[in-house]
Amino acid sequence: MARRLDNKQYSQIYQYLNQMKKRVNYDRDIKIYYVESDYVGGGAITKTRINLTNRALLYPQTHPVVKSLLAHELAHILNNDLVWQNIKDLLYDRHTRRLINIIKEIRAEIEGSSIGNLTKHEINQAQTILMIKNKNTTNFQEAYSGLNGRYKAYPTRIQIKYFSKRHTTLTQKVIDYFINSYFKHIKILDSVQKNRIKQNIYNRFL
Ligand SMILES: [Zn+2]
Repeated sequence: MARRLDNKQYSQIYQYLNQMKKRVNYDRDIKIYYVESDYVGGGAITKTRINLTNRALLYPQTHPVVKSLLAHELAHILNNDLVWQNIKDLLYDRHTRRLINIIKEIRAEIEGSSIGNLTKHEINQAQTILMIKNKNTTNFQEAYSGLNGRYKAYPTRIQIKYFSKRHTTLTQKVIDYFINSYFKHIKILDSVQKNRIKQNIYNRFL
């Protein structure tokens, strides 16, 4: 059962969220809910609601894992990544849909780390713990196919560390990296198909 996190008991978590909201001028009130899950994770449910799992809340409130998850979910809200906002994505072919998900996730990681003022050390620490606890694969082909723990197509934690430490926003260079890396590891060879997917992704993100 989802339960709202008490402002007093979880004051440090709300304080961190408020600092981030101030940084990006987001003035809507966001409530944080606790949900049961086998994973250390979170979710952006609406513009005013973020979930954190029981396993995430085992960490101290100011722990990099908690900060990283919160920042990631706030970035999803700011980028209009909520499920109901992206129904149209379902009309694309499977490879475009996977790439959209991979790029949405790397964007939330890159921009979240920036909004959350996470240090390189905190990024490393959070991603290493999440990778181990959630049993995320380090194999690109598996990650891109959606065989990455509980996730759909997703960047690997190694890629998340790399790009989050070097970027503050999603750039065309990052997008191109993932498009080309996806083609290589999923073995998409046909140039007409490649161009169509690439154009879909550019239209979606640029
Ligand atoms: Zn996400």
